[in-house]
Order: sequence, then C-alpha cells, then structure tokens
Amino acid sequence: MLKLYNTLSREKEDFQPVGKVVTMYSCGPTVYNYAHIGNLRTYVFMDLVRRVLRYDGYKLKGVMNITDVGHLLSDGDDGEDKMAIAAKKQQKSPYEIAEYYTSVFFKDIEALNIGKPEIIAKATDHINEMIAYVEALVEKGYGYETSDGIYFDIGKFEGYGKLSRLNLDDQIAGARVEVNSEKRHPADFALWKKAPKEHIMQWPSPWGMGYPGWHIECSTMSRKYLGSLIDIHSGGVDHIPVHHENEIAQSEALEGSKTVNTWMHGEFMLVDGGKMSKSLGNTYTIAQLEEMGYSPLAFRYFCLNTHYRKKLNFTFEGLKAAQVAYTRMLNALYEHKISTAATAPEILDKYRKDFTDAVNDDINIPLSLGVIWTMLKENPSKDIYALALEFDKVLGLSLNKAKPAEKEKIEVPDDIKAIADERWQARLAKNWAESDRLRDILAEKGYLVKDSKEGYSLEKK
Ligand code: AMP
Ligand code: ZN
Repeated sequence: MLKLYNTLSREKEDFQPVGKVVTMYSCGPTVYNYAHIGNLRTYVFMDLVRRVLRYDGYKLKGVMNITDVGHLLSDGDDGEDKMAIAAKKQQKSPYEIAEYYTSVFFKDIEALNIGKPEIIAKATDHINEMIAYVEALVEKGYGYETSDGIYFDIGKFEGYGKLSRLNLDDQIAGARVEVNSEKRHPADFALWKKAPKEHIMQWPSPWGMGYPGWHIECSTMSRKYLGSLIDIHSGGVDHIPVHHENEIAQSEALEGSKTVNTWMHGEFMLVDGGKMSKSLGNTYTIAQLEEMGYSPLAFRYFCLNTHYRKKLNFTFEGLKAAQVAYTRMLNALYEHKISTAATAPEILDKYRKDFTDAVNDDINIPLSLGVIWTMLKENPSKDIYALALEFDKVLGLSLNKAKPAEKEKIEVPDDIKAIADERWQARLAKNWAESDRLRDILAEKGYLVKDSKEGYSLEKK
C-alpha cells in the first residue's frame, strides 16, 4: 500500500485515488531564466512520485504549468513581472524569453531522465479561462475590485492558512508596510492586475487591460485539465505559505469543497549549508555541472540519496561522491549483465519486496538504493540484472548503461616492461616454457600479464 505524506494533515496517509487514473498537478517553472539545480531537485522529486505511481500500476494524468506571465518579483503582488524584467534586460519580447528558457528547461529535464507530464500548460494560453475564473469568484463574493486590480478577499474564506498553519495575525505582523491601502486585508492577493500602459504583457478583460495574478493560473489549469478534485498537487516547500495557500483559497471558494487530496512538497536544496541565490553566485545549472565534468545522472543520483522531505546540502564533494557511487553501481551491475547464471526466485522476491516497501513508504528512494546495493553483492546473475532494470523504472538512472570498470592506468617500470617484452618474444617464438617462466617472474614482482591478438597488457595484482 502506497503511503504519502500530506502537507495538509502533516501525516503519512494511505493513498487512495479518486478515480481510475491518478491526477497530479505540479507547479512548473517560471521561464525567465535557466532552472538551477535547486529547482531541478524539485522536478526530480515530482518525477519520482510519478514513477512510483506507475510502478504500482496506476495510470497517470499529470499537468505541469509553465509560468510565462504574472509571477511578480515577490511571491505576493509586488514588483515587476519576472518575465518583463528579463525581456527588458535582454531586449527581447517576453514570448522569446519564455520560448528560449522553456526549451532549455525541457533539455535539462530530459538529461535528468525526468519524464514530461502528460499535459504541459502555458499560462499565456489560458488567459480567457483565467478571466472567467476570476469573474466567477467575484460573482460569488470572493473577489473585489480596487484601482489597480481584482483581489481575493481572504476574510470571506474560512480556511485561509490551513496548509501553512500560519495564523493570520502572524502573517499580518510579518507583512511589509502596506502600500495598497485599498485592500480589505493585508494578505488579500491579486487575482488580476490592471496594467499601466507601459506594461509589456496585457490582455483585455472586464476590468480593462491587464494580466493575471500568478496563483490563478494553477487553480484554472488544474480544474480545466484534471477536474474539481485531484489526487496530488506538488511543488517546492517555498510554495506552501503563499502560492498554495492562495490556490486553495481560490479553488475551494469556487468549488465549495476540497479540490486536492494530497499536497506534496519537496524540501529545498541548500548550497554549502546556506541559501541558493543568484546574488551569492552559488546557483548552478546542469550545463555548468557538465562543463565541470559531472554527468546529469550523477546529479540525479545525488538527489536520490536524500529523502525528498529533507533538506539537501549541495557541495562539490557530495556531487563527486555521488558520481563515484553511481559509476560503481554501473560497474557492479555489469558483472550481472554479462552473467548467464541464475538466482533463486525466493531471493529475488525478497529484494523486490524490500524495494517496493521502501518506495511505497512515502517515496523512500534512499532506502531503495540501499536495497540495490545489497542485491548487487549477490553472485553475478542475469536475474539480478533484470531486477535492477525493473527497479530502474522508479530510479531513472539508466541502469541499462551498465559498463565495465575502466582499468586504472598504471605506470610500468622499465625493468618490468623489459621482462614482459622478452616474454612476448618467447611467446611469438612458441617457446612456451620460457614464456611461462617469465610470466612467473612477473607474477612474483606483482604483475599479471594478459595476452590478446594485438599484444599483451599488464595489470597490477
Ligand atoms: P520557479 O521557477 O521560481 O517558480 O521555481 C520552480 C520550482 O523550484 C518551484 O517548485 C520551487 O518551489 C522550486 N525551488 C526553488 N528554489 C529551490 C531550491 N533551492 N531547492 C529546491 N527547490 C527549489
Ligand atoms: Zn502553482
């Protein structure tokens, strides 16, 4: 039985899908810049959830949004649109910016073996639906108009704050000095913003030219593609207090009932124990890691080693260790790949059970990696290899690329080389006794000779 931790209840719960096909909505990237490794950790997490569901035999319908409008500099309603800032800086249109960073994002996730959700939905393709959604909220009395936009009235929504468990007074106390005095409550958030003339992205609406708030896109697209009640909604932990709280308010206000059964959040990646941020110059992209000699899948392995609800501290030592471990795994697996021997079914079943128990216990991938490592210590067997490939449907580590360990290059001293050459000559002259004698001498000195058609090679014993 699959158990998933639900942020809303703060408990691991038995997973019981609403219908035959599991529905999952994942908050996607704001495409104004390259995704950094912290962002990508969150998508690896999303991918693992999807893979475990599939492994358990569920069919999936997943939606991921691409935010190409409306995400302002703060998660609240302040500052400029992130897309507009990037567009100005690079002297391109926001659409060109979005297209470029979206395509890099898809390349990144492909390199990390992150499967694309079934539906990818761009915010700018859903403007009319968002407007209709906002209109419906206004009609129901949850939205009100000010001089700069349409706001959600959180005072009308009883459950506000239930996901983050922040009480409203604390939120107000922590809020910055209120600039928008027309708001009824400091935590009221924008559903729609009226656009000043110079604003690059704007659309006609019942409230004049404007653009959608950031949160409304997820409520709108989740409802459009997945219906009124979905199984899983995922995102990073930073979304809990504002973005997802606001999504809940919008969606439940419209439906009059719960709209998400399980809220799942991936913990943050830190760098050298601290926050990852552009200004500190410690955000890396997959391309940068590759330039430094780290493979994308070594980074995936690095992510897999820590449970998704734990903070993951990124260091280059840690990544290096992950790359070494991942290569060792591929090497160890190779011995099984080339084996023709079999393993007893009871033994295989035991590993399968251990692996399944681990991944079904709130996606405990680190524990499941432990099962693989134990299993690889078995005598080489084609069955172990086949089972590892079965497990790889969850792990996504391309274990079918198992390869032999690269031989360590050794410096051979001249005297050893001279004996080895002499032996090779003796061998060519079919002087087997001499050849064997010299082989023994080399062995005594700690070297193993291997012959092939092209010549010989030496290995340290
Ligand atoms: P954004 O493109 O800024 O909307 O963020 C994309 C995703 O990355 C969101 O789900 C965030 O919660 C997540 N995210 C941002 N920073 C980090 C981080 N340091 N570690 C893990 N996830 C992050
Ligand atoms: Zn969202």
